[in-house]
Amino acid sequence: MILLDGKKTSADIKEEIALEVASLKQQEKKSPHLAAIIVGNDGASLTYVNAKVKACERVGFESTLIRLPETTTEEELLNEIAVLNVDKDINGFIVQLPLPDHIDEQKILMAIAPEKDVDGFHPMNVGKLALNLPTFISATPYGILELLERYQIETSGKDVVVIGRSHIVGSPMSILLAQKRTVGNATVTLTHSRTKNLAEITKKADIIVAALGIPEFLKGAMVKDDVVIIDVGITRVADASKKRGFRLVGDVAFDEVKDKASHITPVPGGVGPMTIAMLLKNTLLAYYRQNEH
Ligand code: NAD
Repeated sequence: MILLDGKKTSADIKEEIALEVASLKQQEKKSPHLAAIIVGNDGASLTYVNAKVKACERVGFESTLIRLPETTTEEELLNEIAVLNVDKDINGFIVQLPLPDHIDEQKILMAIAPEKDVDGFHPMNVGKLALNLPTFISATPYGILELLERYQIETSGKDVVVIGRSHIVGSPMSILLAQKRTVGNATVTLTHSRTKNLAEITKKADIIVAALGIPEFLKGAMVKDDVVIIDVGITRVADASKKRGFRLVGDVAFDEVKDKASHITPVPGGVGPMTIAMLLKNTLLAYYRQNEH
């Protein structure tokens, strides 16, 4: 069994990006600039957004963190977005989710200029993704494509089963893997909470992407030998033996599946670390697109 090491792969990608930024600087060009808006004081969201800003610094990007209070109105947030949309120094920006209940998330995502939407959540970018047109592929599915590519896992003609149909993972993953692209051309089955006889379906899969958010859901008996497993799930499970009081558990019963699988992503250290690297890649892409002319 080969571990698909997201920690190492994401470090490689960041290193490649850092080299590109160093070369831009040598040519006396500006560095790519990512901005992030966060509303409120949610601990997990602050941790994520700080990690994104730190990653920018490490590869040589400029970064701006805009912290707004919990009481920020929808209109105030829309105004912040309007400013970033036209700020020539900002190549891409993200609005950290979730937002407080009084703010309409969809309305906010729709307000981001699609050419700066490096999270790839704007309906125009999602539509382009569905049509296999140049876009920003959102970080989690993009990270999975990159892992499969770098580990040279053949997807063409393979039977892929995606578990979960969320807009951020399952749905785009199923669309991308079925498309005519380097990592694609697969026969994809998208399964979800209403799927009947799931184990019958997963047992036939050459590749399984598990993104449902139920710890250790995919058991050894549900997969065939030599399957490739991508475990997207991250759930905090209480664990008194850990300093922070919990451990992170994936959607796959790792110990049951690991000896059957040919390749598998660990949790943590698999898909998770790839997402920040892909956000940086999208920011670099936005920079190049905006400086083409
Ligand atoms: P979600 O909660 O939005 O959707 C879950 C999906 O799973 C739904 O489509 C539902 O139909 C399906 N589902 C639920 N029960 C099922 C069952 N018994 N059988 C089959 N399908 C079932 O999930 P999400 O936002 O896509 O997140 C899924 C998991 O991935 C979570 O643990 C989340 O924390 C994690 N996640 C990780 C990353 C990462 O960077 N590694 C990124 C995003 C999400």
